[in-house]
Amino acid sequence: MRCEDARARLSDGAPNEGELRDHVDACDACREEYGFLEALRASRPQPPAALRDRVVASFPRRRFRWAVAAWAASAAIMLGAGFAAGQWLAPPPKVELVRVERVVTRPPSDEEVAVLAVALAAQYRGAVEVEFDGVTCKKIRALRRLREITCCPIIREMERVSKERPGLVELQ
Ligand SMILES: [Zn+2]
Repeated sequence: MRCEDARARLSDGAPNEGELRDHVDACDACREEYGFLEALRASRPQPPAALRDRVVASFPRRRFRWAVAAWAASAAIMLGAGFAAGQWLAPPPKVELVRVERVVTRPPSDEEVAVLAVALAAQYRGAVEVEFDGVTCKKIRALRRLREITCCPIIREMERVSKERPGLVELQ
């Protein structure tokens, strides 16, 4: 079993299945990760599973919609350009549709930041501190160590937001 697979399974819970157990027993890095996750779990009550699933599920889907929108927009522009050229030139040029594999990013909105802050505080209570001004999140303070949980979509979102909103996330 690879460390990556072991960690993905560890973050889902703490199943005592043989293969995972053997890996954790033999691998210092994963054993340390397991201890860290256990300590975090012990320090917080579980948020309602339905709420957590909803928050987690909202991240990748949003990105997917933007990728599709970007593709649709570029296809429409190319079709429009081909049509305009065809009107004026003889013979009309052959229009080729090219699929552009590029994800369009935009700065996260205040609402997305607030959802992220609530999700982080619920999932990693004790390791994350959030500061709100009304409904706007002003600051997220998190243990630097959390960045190592790369299999968690909430942590990945925190990384993305910290790049696009400098000063918002403070690692300690
Ligand atoms: Zn390992």
